[in-house]
Amino acid sequence: MENNVKQINEVIVNHIREGVMVTDQSGVIFYVNPAFQMVTGYRAVDVIGKKPSFLQSGLHDTAFYKKMWRTIEEKGQWSGEIWNRRQNGELYPEWLTILSVYGSGQKVEQYIGVFTDISEQRSAEAEVKRLVHHDSLTGVANRHAYQARMTDVIETSLQYDQRAAVLVLDIDRFKQINDTFGHQAGDNLLVEVTRRLKRLIGNKDLISRLGGDEFSITLTHIRHPREAFRLAETVISALAAPFWVAGQDIYISTSIGISFLPEDGEDAEALLSHADKAMYHSKQTGRNRFSVYHEEMSVETKEAFPLEMELRRAIERGELMVYYQPQVDAATGKPAGVEALLRWHNKHYGHVSPNVFIPLAEETGLIIPIGNWVLRQVCRDLHTLSQHGFTNLSAAVNISALQFLQDGFVETVQAVLYEENIPPGRIDLELTESTVMPDAHASIERLAKLKELGFTLSIDDFGTGYSSLSYLHRFPIDQLKIDRSFVQQMDKEEGDASIVEAIITMAHRLRLKVVAEGVENEYQLGLLREEACDVVQGYFYAKPLPLAELISYLTAH
Ligand code: C2E
Ligand code: CA
Ligand code: CA
Repeated sequence: MENNVKQINEVIVNHIREGVMVTDQSGVIFYVNPAFQMVTGYRAVDVIGKKPSFLQSGLHDTAFYKKMWRTIEEKGQWSGEIWNRRQNGELYPEWLTILSVYGSGQKVEQYIGVFTDISEQRSAEAEVKRLVHHDSLTGVANRHAYQARMTDVIETSLQYDQRAAVLVLDIDRFKQINDTFGHQAGDNLLVEVTRRLKRLIGNKDLISRLGGDEFSITLTHIRHPREAFRLAETVISALAAPFWVAGQDIYISTSIGISFLPEDGEDAEALLSHADKAMYHSKQTGRNRFSVYHEEMSVETKEAFPLEMELRRAIERGELMVYYQPQVDAATGKPAGVEALLRWHNKHYGHVSPNVFIPLAEETGLIIPIGNWVLRQVCRDLHTLSQHGFTNLSAAVNISALQFLQDGFVETVQAVLYEENIPPGRIDLELTESTVMPDAHASIERLAKLKELGFTLSIDDFGTGYSSLSYLHRFPIDQLKIDRSFVQQMDKEEGDASIVEAIITMAHRLRLKVVAEGVENEYQLGLLREEACDVVQGYFYAKPLPLAELISYLTAH
């Protein structure tokens, strides 16, 4: 029976996957099982008669072994993770249990060590960790891991009185790139951006992808804020070089915000959120730049109310107004019409220039509802003007490319005028060359329809775009508006007066009327009159006026 048990034990020990090693009371090995050899690489004959210290990795200090042996003495056993060395020199972690075997009189006769190689399990764990802590697309830390590492950086920096800088970067108009070239292209771009960023930072600096197209960099141990500014500038220029994505060169720009440890916060969250506010400031002030966080950017100020969000609500909140700038017959000085110019007053931003919010409206598509609102408002104001006796006065309305290119643009415009009961003859649509030129063929068709309905058609900002008069004559348009930059140069440089002169002569030959905009003084007006310019518009006569003031102006003239 006893023999039988011994046999069974032997079978088990020979077949289990755990390594087994048995020593006498002085620690000399007298038995090892086959799994021992599999894990350690040592054969039984090599190890029997030796002490197990040859397995030591050198990773644990003597205190570790002392503590281990004390536990074995006190409790009769010990379990724990220990790093050992295989015969080929490789280090590996094992889970080891050591049991004391007592003889008569509670004297230890043998020690049995049972262990499992856990290196496999460990590398799986490491992989899981990597996946949890790293952004799977770019391979850099994700927000979670970044914040965790920031905690260490901050602690050390504060302890040694060192400064650090946090940069938050956001790729401008990334969504557009994604929409235009597809998500795969967007992903490739992010990978390449990461690669360029990694080249710019040092060993001890941190980089992470916070999400989407937003990255963060921590510059550790800086001696002067200049170091952060320099990095920001380098990043901006490194990302300004074209990216070869989806078979073509793509150009991007970056907006960056910077915050400093300890001035702007002493924890990762505060530093990130302040750098983020500064980044937002960069976006709002023209993109492709960096800004440093300062207090005024904080709390209830503008950044809490993104411009785009505010613009979305501008119509329903009644924040939009249409102003009117008189246009004057150059020969007689009598009012010849008005141009409708949109104004936006927001409670957080105050007056926002159309040069800022119109491009934003175009970029976000908001120009469609806004443009329709303007047209409707102009129709209503024309009724008011009629009531004041200006029954024939027409109003020019600016039309953005996105509006003009919409399917059903003609029908929409027609519907608004019909609903508001205004004849198309009282509306002059202003389009730029860059709106009508790219798809000239389709534009001509669309313009012809509008013309047929009775609208007046003008080319705005003439001279700044293609400026192809010979091409323009194919478009069924009525007038050209000479860009104000030419008008304003007339009295300064010889050459520009002759450009204006040439435009007027050519336009007249094509039977187009000419409107000069931005007329600010008598001298410009004199020259324009000499060249027989038809209509003038500018501060010399009047600035854009709210409706009530326009009525006073018209009444006086
Ligand atoms: P624009 O169509 O070229 O409008 C003329 C701009 O010149 C206006 O600027 C006007 O205020 C300004 N201006 C007029 N006279 C003078 C002058 O004597 N000197 C100077 N220096 N400037 C003068 P504003 O109102 O800021 O509008 C800027 C641009 O915003 C407009 O340029 C137009 O492209 C766009 N915009 C304005 N309202 C609308 C709108 O309702 N729809 C669309 N799509 N665009 C609009
Ligand atoms: Ca205009
Ligand atoms: Ca213009």
